[in-house]
Amino acid sequence: EAKKQARGAYRVFRQEMQNLLDKTSHLHMDLISALAGDEFFLEFQPIIQLSKRCIVGVEALIRWNHPTRGMISPAEFIPVAEESGLITKLGAWVLRRACEAAHQWPETVKVSVNISPRQFELDDVYRMVSSVLLTSGLPAKRLKLEITESVLLSQNSPNLQTLQDLRDLDITLVLDDFGIGYASLSYLDMFKFDFIKIDKSFVSRISNPEDRHHVFEAVMGMAKALEMPVTAEGIETSAQLKYVQSLGCDFVQGFYFAKPMTSTQLLQFMSSPLPAVI
Ligand code: C2E
Ligand code: MG
Ligand code: MG
Ligand code: MG
Repeated sequence: EAKKQARGAYRVFRQEMQNLLDKTSHLHMDLISALAGDEFFLEFQPIIQLSKRCIVGVEALIRWNHPTRGMISPAEFIPVAEESGLITKLGAWVLRRACEAAHQWPETVKVSVNISPRQFELDDVYRMVSSVLLTSGLPAKRLKLEITESVLLSQNSPNLQTLQDLRDLDITLVLDDFGIGYASLSYLDMFKFDFIKIDKSFVSRISNPEDRHHVFEAVMGMAKALEMPVTAEGIETSAQLKYVQSLGCDFVQGFYFAKPMTSTQLLQFMSSPLPAVI
């Protein structure tokens, strides 16, 4: 009886695995045609400096409007693009579009673009970035690259040199998703990023600004020790804003201020007064 049950469970498991594989390979083929077609677009989310009460940056976020499935989250298709290697083309496309869009904004507003660690493995990121800057004509000092810490792992000294070269161009380097990746903090000494972005999973736990949130405090303390300014992402409530501000976090991003929006909406947003909540 137990054997029968196990076999049954295995059959279910195998079917689920197969479904997942089918879904992923479909997604992969669809990604290729999406890049050829016109199914990707960018949305933009403002980043605000509290002390100056102004928009200092905008994060570019890729969107995929799939012909039959509708909108698919980057959390679903970016890993597929990383796996297949398509991320190099996709990443270059995002960067080019983002730099072109930034031309329409005030010069004080920088554009942040996410670069997958996989791009460093598969591509010459320095060459790709400098060529996009050249063709788009965007000054390097207006570009921020958001990179996760895994770029510094796996005996990656070539990546360290690439980061240094990008920095020498005057590009701002942001350590993205800080706090959720790896247990080891030793990589923090390997390269000094210009900014740390605390992952939204830490912010979402904050409900009462009077409570203490030890992990968030520790992360802020560490950022201070490393002399890296901090951006908190995923701010959705005034309580969360109050709390991160009380800990000295000056840069914020989240639905509470603005959701990711189209470039037309962004131009509108930037030309109107900031929301009263700030
Ligand atoms: P990320 O780089 O950490 O980007 C921030 C994510 O948080 C975005 O999700 C944004 O829409 C979301 N977010 C911002 N404020 C709030 C908030 O107040 N509440 C909530 N619940 N969410 C908020 P999105 O656009 O779905 O992107 C997810 C992830 O996909 C990104 O995380 C990034 O890792 C990746 N991604 C997006 N666009 C690109 C891209 O062009 N290239 C690469 N390599 N990765 C990308
Ligand atoms: Mg990011
Ligand atoms: Mg990211
Ligand atoms: Mg994040």
